[in-house]
Amino acid sequence: MVRTTETSTDQTEEMNADCLFCKIVAGEIRTEMVAESDTAVAFRDINPKAPVHVLVVPRSHHADVSALAGADPQALADVIGLADQVASDLADGQYRLICNVGPKAGQTIFHAHAHVLAGTQLSGF
Ligand code: AMP
Repeated sequence: MVRTTETSTDQTEEMNADCLFCKIVAGEIRTEMVAESDTAVAFRDINPKAPVHVLVVPRSHHADVSALAGADPQALADVIGLADQVASDLADGQYRLICNVGPKAGQTIFHAHAHVLAGTQLSGF
């Protein structure tokens, strides 16, 4: 199996001082937090693309979910578990989970995260 690491970095640390999502995790920037676990937080996206659009973010800093999967697979499982909980709590448990990895995929914040989209009939792609 070929694993693309073109846009991933080895940057794995508890907190990156220049990272927006690290600042949100630390409570330095306010957001509408909807759920938390020991390893991840969930907050509403500032530019929602669906009635429920929540970002689920691991507390530790990894550049993207590819790096997270390599460094801490349990933390990635925890992200998906919290996403599932959010979709049940805020919608009907049906959701789309999107993880952008790299600028070509549309990633703009380089701290691993999953988008939970729910609350409506989502268009196919
Ligand atoms: P991505 O493009 O996959 O990296 O997703 C980054 C997401 O973060 C985008 O959907 C933005 O709307 C969202 N975002 C950026 N800044 C904030 C913020 N301060 N609070 C909540 N969401 C944000």
